[in-house]
Amino acid sequence: MKDYYEILGVPKDASEAEIKKAFRQLALKYHPDRNPGDKQAEEKFKEINEAYSCLSDPEKRANYDRFGVAEGVGAGFHPFDTGFGDIFEDIFGDFFGTFTGHRRPRAAKGNDFRYDLKISLMEAAFGTDRFIEIPRWENCYDCKGTGSIPGKGPIICPSCRGTGQIRLQQGFFSISKTCGKCHGTGKVITDPCKTCKGEGRVKKFRNINVKIPPGVDTGSRLRISGEGEPGLYGGPPGDLYVVIDVDEHPFFKREGTEIFCEVPISFPQAALGAEIDVPTLDGTSKIKIPPGTPSGRIFHIKGKGLTKVGGHSRGDQIVRVYIDVPKKLTQRQKELLEEFVRANGDEVAKSFKERIKELFSRAEK
Ligand SMILES: [Zn+2]
Ligand SMILES: [Zn+2]
Repeated sequence: MKDYYEILGVPKDASEAEIKKAFRQLALKYHPDRNPGDKQAEEKFKEINEAYSCLSDPEKRANYDRFGVAEGVGAGFHPFDTGFGDIFEDIFGDFFGTFTGHRRPRAAKGNDFRYDLKISLMEAAFGTDRFIEIPRWENCYDCKGTGSIPGKGPIICPSCRGTGQIRLQQGFFSISKTCGKCHGTGKVITDPCKTCKGEGRVKKFRNINVKIPPGVDTGSRLRISGEGEPGLYGGPPGDLYVVIDVDEHPFFKREGTEIFCEVPISFPQAALGAEIDVPTLDGTSKIKIPPGTPSGRIFHIKGKGLTKVGGHSRGDQIVRVYIDVPKKLTQRQKELLEEFVRANGDEVAKSFKERIKELFSRAEK
């Protein structure tokens, strides 16, 4: 049988505090992070964990004292079991700071930043360079990040005596809480630096040149590596994500790599045919309107749309023509149109009537 008291090096009548203190010292000494690859240390570490997990629990300790066994301890025990995390965090919290998964402050990547950038459709189509200003916290130059006037502090926190933790006794357990006076830093600023008002850091704006490639659309994300928040404990900085928002265009509508627009033509142009100028993203293009073009006909202009990001070929521009009916006519125009109606002999109405008649007579059969 293992002697848990011997393992922790405490007498049989040791108090809770003595047991905890002994465990803490041993656990720090044999912690796997401090003894990488040392099998003996690892065994020892497991052993002291096992001993502590028994002796720190009053019920298990009583069992152990009477019967020499502590129920449930030993079998399948792993120091990094989630169930054990709480004890561990409690004991080591103030030594190792905040940890995630592993029990030591690992170098951590800084947070990513997001920047929403509105651009025009032309900029989205052809790409552009934009300077953006992003705020960043930097160490205050005047106090070198201490937050105090040079030579005037900071002083050791009188509440926690510099540990950053306040101990609270609750029944059998003593709990460590972050010191409220110094917020866990262990230091108190008595004469705050004028530049940063004691924060130790100042907000600085940084100009970053963002290269926007042709073809981006609303929701496109551009990653600018290393321009996020600085890393923790020597970790790499986060990234900056520029999220694109393409402004609506009054004339062009975009659908992926295609551009839509509507262009008016006159009735004579539709009837006789014509060549018209159509605005495109880059200059104007001509399209041929064949004689007898109805309102709503679609024309494609090849290669006048957009590329995909990183692509080469451009989509089409799609042009829908509609017949513009004039609201005001001169006397001369009126005469000409009336003449046209007479010459036309009311043909539109006649052919429509005939088609309807045909449709209905077919339906009656
Ligand atoms: Zn300062
Ligand atoms: Zn404090």
